[in-house]
Amino acid sequence: MISLPPHDISTDASRTRTPPWLRVLAVVLAVHLVVLLLWTVRRTHPQAPASVPVETRPDITKPVRAAPPRFPANTSLPAQREMDVSGALRLSSFSAGRDLVYVDDARVWWESDDDGETDHECDHTVHRALETPLRRLIELVSARGARLKVQDTYRPTGIHNSRSLHQEGRAIDVTCDEIKMEELAKLCWQAGFDWVLHEGPSRNGAHVHASVRRLSAGQTASTTGTVSVAQAAAAKKP
Ligand SMILES: [Zn+2]
Repeated sequence: MISLPPHDISTDASRTRTPPWLRVLAVVLAVHLVVLLLWTVRRTHPQAPASVPVETRPDITKPVRAAPPRFPANTSLPAQREMDVSGALRLSSFSAGRDLVYVDDARVWWESDDDGETDHECDHTVHRALETPLRRLIELVSARGARLKVQDTYRPTGIHNSRSLHQEGRAIDVTCDEIKMEELAKLCWQAGFDWVLHEGPSRNGAHVHASVRRLSAGQTASTTGTVSVAQAAAAKKP
């Protein structure tokens, strides 16, 4: 009968015991694995971006209001004072560099383009808030086969009274040879100006004066492709 040597149990136990450094290494590797997995999941399923308000471009080809049945000379819409609708002149918070934009359209006759060398007015210069109704008015007038005449826009000094919104570029004077003044006043109202005055024949001649409120905080010009007056001036330099 063969006798086997006695089995050394203590030696076996010490041989299978995991060294402490190996446990630490295992934990570190596990943590790395979890981090790697999370990173992979985030890359595969990127989080939806925070909702960013999308500025919708207005449709400038359609009127924003119905045509009023009548718009007699020397009446306004709404039938209120201009300052109660468009807001009073506030030059202290007006910045020409920030608020004015340069609008151009070959379908329009711009009075200042036909002025002499001594006249430095620029009828392409309007407040940002006035751009969209102006562009819509151009569309509405052009759709009738007529040509809008822009007689006056931004006037920092000069012909207008001391409270005139022309000083902020928030007012515009227009005429049209092919459309009756009353019809033009209706189109201005339909184009979205906040306050429209059908001015009858006077010292300044019959025309339509229209104005707008300032943009609310955070609002930007809603018609794309517009450049500021400062950018337009820079682009013209050789
Ligand atoms: Zn005016």
